[in-house]
Formats: sequence, C-alpha cells, structure tokens
Amino acid sequence: MAELEADHDHQHQTTKPKKHVAVLPSPGMGHIIPLFELAKRLVVFNHDIHVSFLVINTDEDDSAARDQYLHSHSTHPPGLDVVDIPPVNVSDIVRDDMLILTRICVMVEESLKSLKSVLIKLGKPEALVIDLFCTGAFEICSELSIPVYSFSSPSTAFLTFSLYLPTLDREVEGEFVNLPEPISIPGCSPIRPDDLLDQVRNRKNDQYKWFYLHMSRLPLAAGILVNTWEDFESVPLKAIREHSFFLQLPTPPVYPVGPLIKQDEPSSSSDVECLTWLDNQPADSVLFIALGSGGTLTTGQLLEMAWGLEMSQQKFIWVLRKPDDADASSTFFNVGSDVNDPKSYLPEGFLEKIQGVGLVVKSWATQVAILRHPSTGGFLSHCGWNSTMESITHGVAIIAWPLYAEQKMNAAMLTEELGVAMKPVKGPGETVVRREEISRVVRLLMESEEGEIIRSRVKKLRDSARRAVDNGGSSHNSLSCLVEKWKNEIKP
Ligand code: UDP
Repeated sequence: MAELEADHDHQHQTTKPKKHVAVLPSPGMGHIIPLFELAKRLVVFNHDIHVSFLVINTDEDDSAARDQYLHSHSTHPPGLDVVDIPPVNVSDIVRDDMLILTRICVMVEESLKSLKSVLIKLGKPEALVIDLFCTGAFEICSELSIPVYSFSSPSTAFLTFSLYLPTLDREVEGEFVNLPEPISIPGCSPIRPDDLLDQVRNRKNDQYKWFYLHMSRLPLAAGILVNTWEDFESVPLKAIREHSFFLQLPTPPVYPVGPLIKQDEPSSSSDVECLTWLDNQPADSVLFIALGSGGTLTTGQLLEMAWGLEMSQQKFIWVLRKPDDADASSTFFNVGSDVNDPKSYLPEGFLEKIQGVGLVVKSWATQVAILRHPSTGGFLSHCGWNSTMESITHGVAIIAWPLYAEQKMNAAMLTEELGVAMKPVKGPGETVVRREEISRVVRLLMESEEGEIIRSRVKKLRDSARRAVDNGGSSHNSLSCLVEKWKNEIKP
C-alpha cells in the first residue's frame, strides 16, 4: 500500500480537477470488499471522481487475504488510491475475551485519532463514505465541513432494525431474545427473537453498547448507501422512505447501489487448480462450501460435515479452516494468514475417499470466480451479506449455515421469504447437525426437483440484480444521482 504522502502527491499530479471522495471501511473483509468495490465503481463509471480508500492498520489485524486483495493490480483501477491510515498498536487495549464487534470498534476508535490530519493532508475530500462502525468520523468531518455518508454493508432489513434499535431499547425491559413474539419493525417483516443478530442478544455486554452507539448515530449521515437493489428489498426500502416512523427520525436519504461484489480477484496456484477442475465438471453439479472470512466449525461439526459431504456423493469444493470450539468467527482478523493444515484435523482416510469427487482448499479461495463458474450449482454458505449478494448475482442456490453477526436474519430471509435457500436442522438436543442431515440437504439441493425450483428462483433474482446495476438500472441511477450531488457540492 502506498504511503500517505506518496499518494497525496500522486493525486495532485494526475487528478487535480476531479472531485475527491474518501471511503473508510472498518477492519474485516466483509466490510473492506463491498466498500472497495464501491470505490472502484465510482472511478470506473465516473471519470470525474477520484477516490482515496483509507485503510485501518492495527497490530491485531493481520489478514493475508486482505493485503493480497488491496494490493492486486487487477483490482486497482487508475483514479483509486489506497491510503494507509497511520498504524496503531492496540495490543494493550484489545483483550482475548473481547467479542468481534468490540474489537472492531476499539481498532476503529484508535485509528480515527489521526483521521483529521489524514483528511487535511489529502486536501479535504468533497465527501467521506464510512462503514457503519466508523461513526467517530461524524464529529471530525463536521469540524472540516465534509459531509459524511454511511454505507450499510449488510441488508436493508438490517438497516431498518438498526434504525429502530433506540426505540426498541427504550421500550423493552430485559433481553430482546426473551421476547415472546417476533419483533415488529414498522413497515417491515417481523424478526424472530431467535434470528436476532449477535450484537443485540445480550444488552449487558460491551458489544451491544458499541452497536447501539453507532446505530443511534445513523440519522447524522448525509445519506445512507446500501448494498442491495430496489426490486430485491422493496418492502424495507419502501418502509424507510414512506413509513411515518422512519420519516420522523428523520432517516437520511437511502441509496440502494448494489449488488456491489468482487469483479476480479487475484488467484493463487490452488485457485487455478480449482477452476481447471471445475472446467471438467458438468453444469450445476458442484457444491461450493465456504463460511466467509471468519467462519469456523467446531471439531465435532467439522467431522460431521466431512462425512456428510462424502455420504452425499456430490461433487464439492470445500474451503477448510482449522476447527475452533470456542469461536465461530475465529479467522475474522487473520484469514489467509491462519495456520492451517487440513491433514491434521480432517478425519483419517477422508482425503483419500474424496479423490476425484471433492477438492479441499485451505483458508481462502477465489469465491466469486467459483460461484461464477457454470459447473457450480450450489453454495453452502454462512449467509454473510457479501456471500449472499455474490451467490444471487451468479444464480447459485444456497444451503444456509449461519454462524455469527446478522447471518441468521439473512438465512431466514433467503429460506422463508425468497425461497432460494434450504436449511439443514439439528436434531432435538443435538449440538451439531448430523452427517445424515447434511447429506440429505445436499442431495436435495443438488439432485431433486425441489433443488431445481430453487435454482430457477435464484436465476430470476440474478437477472434482476444484473438489470439493477446495468446502465439505466435502479442501482446505477441511484449511484449516478449521488455522484451528481457530490459534483455539485461546493467546497466551503
Ligand atoms: N471470501 C473469499 N474467499 C473465501 C471466503 C470468503 O473470497 O474463501 C470473500 C467472499 O467472496 C465475500 C467476503 O469474503 O466477498 C466475505 O464477506 P461476507 O459478508 O460474506 O462474510 P463475512 O466475512 O463478513 O462474515
């Protein structure tokens, strides 16, 4: 990544007359990827815009996958500069027992101490687009008279819940997860307490306090960009724009600009091996298994998954990580750098048994290239929002395996509202999903008529997603409208 000074000089040599927008993601691939794709879309489709992509660096965040993605020339068009925020040491503040969002927020808070000087050195951009957990930027940017736009990397349904949270917090005593009825968000589909996001499941912990703090500041944004599109989430989008509850907050204008997904990605030799193997498989015949950047299974669940896949007799590619019995998101900050030798934890004889049928990839794969491949017909996914957008955009049906954050909400939407996913179930009193159930659901998705119906539904959504981002489509228009606003904004 370029140093701040060098990037600043470069900007002045090559892009002086352009409007300058800065983009600030929180740590974590699920935040970095959609905002980097937004930055790319801004410079590729709007040649009058120059983007500085600000990267938070701490000693607690060591992801090889992140560095490779941000460094790769294929993902780095002219007009887009990657700018390192001066690194901070958070090892004295971050504790091992901190939950994932608390860690993110602590890293962000420390890093933003230098945001003001970074923005001044960059010549005060016309606008700053921030991730949901970077709201410390509001105060700093108000001193510099830079308008701040929030970017919701999860769904609009998540956004409506987040906007409603301060009201819920005032009205409900005790834990939300203990409520006897689904939670009604004005104008939106109710959320079952069981499906609530991790961040609000325990109101006494720090994670909840951070989440509440950032979400309660959403109304301060000049606008909110969402990684979704009009036809896909028409109900919550209508609610946000028209329901009296959201109007009185007041809710800033919402810009659905998605799906924003990775276009090109750097590939390693194992990725090339995967794609070549896929070339030799029949259409829609391969199941891809990946659990986002953080997702890990317990030792017991990994064993069941391995034998369940083998029992299903379906072709598969499995992105494998060392099991973790304590934390379902254990590779979130070090994905691609994690120590990982599948032979040391896979059941004996498994790799031999699956030869020719399944491929195992360590830690990280070129997910989008695999989903885009015509041989891929199913995706066992943790239902992170980026993975959801990527699967739908490539017309791949889903087996929902939610693990952390808001993934249970996403899984409910995919299975119950949209009918593009199936969900395996645990037996009564079981702590893992058994191999027989995994095998049953995999076969159902890959071989049955029901699986075909799901695939045809997801292919319709794929077409709708493509229309949205095409020239003249709803997301294209929404982004153009925002860019026009930025272009017309006069610098104070
Ligand atoms: N991803 C990838 N290869 C992998 C695992 C994940 O490229 O082996 C990418 C995936 O394509 C997606 C992102 O990492 O863009 C994960 O984001 P998501 O919102 O799905 O989940 P999170 O990591 O935030 O839980």
